[in-house]
Amino acid sequence: MVAEQLIPRGIKDPKVLEVFHKVDRDKFIPEASRNCAYADYPLSIGENQTISQPFIVALMTECLGLSGNEKVLEIGTGSGYQAAILAELAKEVYSIERYDVLAKKAIDALKSFCYTNIHIKVADGTLGWPEEAPFDRIIVTAASPVVPGPLLEQLKDKGKLILPLGGSFSQVLTLIEKKGGNLGYTDICACVFVPLVGRYSS
Ligand code: SAH
Repeated sequence: MVAEQLIPRGIKDPKVLEVFHKVDRDKFIPEASRNCAYADYPLSIGENQTISQPFIVALMTECLGLSGNEKVLEIGTGSGYQAAILAELAKEVYSIERYDVLAKKAIDALKSFCYTNIHIKVADGTLGWPEEAPFDRIIVTAASPVVPGPLLEQLKDKGKLILPLGGSFSQVLTLIEKKGGNLGYTDICACVFVPLVGRYSS
């Protein structure tokens, strides 16, 4: 996966590449499709939701530019795989999932890794996690036509937020950087994610 999918497509950060070697993706994939765990496409995780293809997980992670000290908010826990990757590269990871059944499965999958820095809750992630705000980094792993306002408010100055911005069928992976009250937007690439469903996603 690292040699065939991530490096040839430009993932360079050695720490990101190392973590993709370390975290077993198959632990997060439902048994029926576990033989495809390292394949170059998204996989179903139940409730009509998907785990992103490895390259997209790596790209979003690399764009966050993590040094190890950050408090990160993830919206869309899904399988828990992205949360595990983040937990290896940041200080604390707060992850929100709207489906109770997916959050439970993710917590189960994460048990064998013994992370003490991942905190998961079931809620509408478009509201952010005000009690734990502000965050150095925010990653939204579901598509929205707008950037949820509460997430921008809960992003620290000099913070970065990445999300697939756009309609249901295609979006642009967008990196937003907050600097002195201004927001800078950078288009990363075209992508397709499942929709973000919440109060501030339309
Ligand atoms: N990061 C995940 C992939 C998530 S797929 C992984 O590594 O596997 C997108 C997830 O976002 C789905 O599980 C979906 O239920 C969740 N989601 C959609 N809208 C949400 C919202 N408003 N709040 C929290 N989770 C949401």
